[in-house]
Amino acid sequence: MKVIIVGAGTGGMCLAHGLRRAGIEVAVHERDRTRTTGLHGYRVGISPNGARALKACLDPELFATFVATTAAPYDTLAMLTERYRTLLTMSFDDLPHTSGGPEDRAPEDREHNVSRMTLRQVLFTGMEDVIAFDRRFTHYEQHPDGRVTAFFDNGSEHADRGSSDTGDLLVGADGAGSRVRRQYLPHATHTETGLVGIGGKTLLTGRTEALLPEPVQNGFGMYFDRRGQFGITHVMRMPWGTSGVGVTERELVDRWPGLRFDNTTDHVSWAITTSRTLAPADVLEREGADLVALAGELSAGWDRRWLELIDTSDPGAAVALSIRTADPVPAWTPSTVTMIGDAIHTMTPGRGAGANTALRDARELRDRLVRVRDGELGLLEAVGEYEELMRRYSSLAVRESLEFMNDDGTARRPVIGPLSVLAQRTGLRVVDHIPAAKRRMARGFQRVRDSELV
Ligand SMILES: Cc1cc2nc3c(=O)[nH]c(=O)nc-3n(C[C@H](O)[C@H](O)[C@H](O)COP(=O)(O)OP(=O)(O)OC[C@H]3O[C@@H](n4cnc5c(N)ncnc54)[C@H](O)[C@@H]3O)c2cc1C
Repeated sequence: MKVIIVGAGTGGMCLAHGLRRAGIEVAVHERDRTRTTGLHGYRVGISPNGARALKACLDPELFATFVATTAAPYDTLAMLTERYRTLLTMSFDDLPHTSGGPEDRAPEDREHNVSRMTLRQVLFTGMEDVIAFDRRFTHYEQHPDGRVTAFFDNGSEHADRGSSDTGDLLVGADGAGSRVRRQYLPHATHTETGLVGIGGKTLLTGRTEALLPEPVQNGFGMYFDRRGQFGITHVMRMPWGTSGVGVTERELVDRWPGLRFDNTTDHVSWAITTSRTLAPADVLEREGADLVALAGELSAGWDRRWLELIDTSDPGAAVALSIRTADPVPAWTPSTVTMIGDAIHTMTPGRGAGANTALRDARELRDRLVRVRDGELGLLEAVGEYEELMRRYSSLAVRESLEFMNDDGTARRPVIGPLSVLAQRTGLRVVDHIPAAKRRMARGFQRVRDSELV
């Protein structure tokens, strides 16, 4: 059996590792020209769903490298007003977990903070013979015997590699704009939420740390303003940054070849999400200092420390993203083409579940392909079983991610009345004082991030 994967992103690479470790032939085709092209350094929170998938698919040393290259864990999640008044705080140790206390939780049962570019480099490690870069997928053809040929419009310098590849299964892991999905399920559409996010990074120093509210100086902050906009901050203390690591982790990081591509230093990653109606029409075309200035304008009236945090950020790291969500798709008949990750279930960042769901897909599909290898399942049966399960958990994740941006975040209703703001703030303050309500809220957060809780 040969599996062709389109896209060397989070899900595609996890699947590729899992298949190769299981002795299944796999080829990954990636449109980026090199392993360092388009390195987007935003923070991704890897939940137990994601960590378990990485543990199952990566070889043990690479999984240990993943763990060693994550940023320091958080102690607190805090929700605040735009004036830095605390509405609710939650300890990360209070998040529901399926195993033991925080000290005896295995790495695969914990939350991890990673820089996306670092995770990407870890996942490329040791896969040089499996990934072909500079191979942009254009379309596929399914043959009468079920085999599939994928076609690529690759650069002329790689013409010797040919422009097609044939295998038994084609997996579209090509992200939100998936061409595989557009050909296979043209009716699977996306909806713009009407929200736009602007994000950036500020170097972490004593001075910039003091610009954060005290509860989130080692944690995750969410800020809600009166116009329905909300901000986020994540503190990223990298193991090779100023915070230092233990000897074992240092050795692993030093031996890891991907590190030479990574210049990540300790930083605060911030974002503000607003309605398109509050932002200028050209917001998505803006970049650099212009975009940083716009983030400052949108948060006029916020605490002066927030404004300084944005003002001192690196203009080169500023990005604007429009936030989309996948529409529900009716079940389809399984074939020798399938999809994982954003390609089939793009979701808003509301629950931090996109990458984790992509990783879970990789694990679920790999498990079933291993059973095909062992003669326990037919290929179509395996694909059908994976897709049925994936549709179930991913539709929940898509729905809850959207609801979070809709109701709790309120930014989809841009001009919310003062009464709704008051209700939201009072509600959070009340929850903050009732431990059982807080635990219920925490469990709600984790539902789509940890399948063993459901
Ligand atoms: C700012 C931000 C913060 C986020 N935070 C979190 C978080 O905390 N937790 C979380 O779980 N998720 C988070 N996400 C979502 C997460 O990043 C995505 O859901 C995840 O990366 C999806 O993985 P994927 O493998 O499906 O696609 P991707 O990682 O996007 O990979 C797709 C790959 O396919 C390649 N490709 C595309 N088209 C082609 C083509 N035609 N031919 C060949 N290759 C192609 C791309 O170059 C890319 O390498 C965040 C997203 C953003 C933008």
